[in-house]
Amino acid sequence: MSQPYNCPDCGAVHPDGSTCPEVFGRLLALEMTDPGFGQVHLFTVACYMIQHNGYSDPALVWMERQLRDHLAGTPAAEIRRRSAQEVSQAERKWKVTRQPGDRPLPRVAWSRTIADADRAAGDPAAYQAAVTAWARAVVEEMRPLLPR
Ligand SMILES: [Zn+2]
Repeated sequence: MSQPYNCPDCGAVHPDGSTCPEVFGRLLALEMTDPGFGQVHLFTVACYMIQHNGYSDPALVWMERQLRDHLAGTPAAEIRRRSAQEVSQAERKWKVTRQPGDRPLPRVAWSRTIADADRAAGDPAAYQAAVTAWARAVVEEMRPLLPR
């Protein structure tokens, strides 16, 4: 029996002892191989990155807007188009990933984490519902992370 793993970044508890990067890798593999799971790919990546302090300040601001739009019905294809246009151009001026020396981010007591998505990974519909609920929670709770 392995010990449960408690993530110091997002607060997720993984009963099988997996770390968040391990669970993230498993879920991405599932999303790549099964379109029923892959539909929520954008949410999975954004939520994971936000909860593990992966985004720079401009990327946090940009991604918060995309998450809100996607939750409100903007198709993933449109978000990808914006990403290709706005972020690839912006990438010349700002980094997407958080850099050493960027301001430290406050800790957030997240109500949902990747562990909730992982628990629903046995069924595509349950998984989509769990990841969408995760994204809703992240958008509401990420406010303290946004630059003032
Ligand atoms: Zn974590």
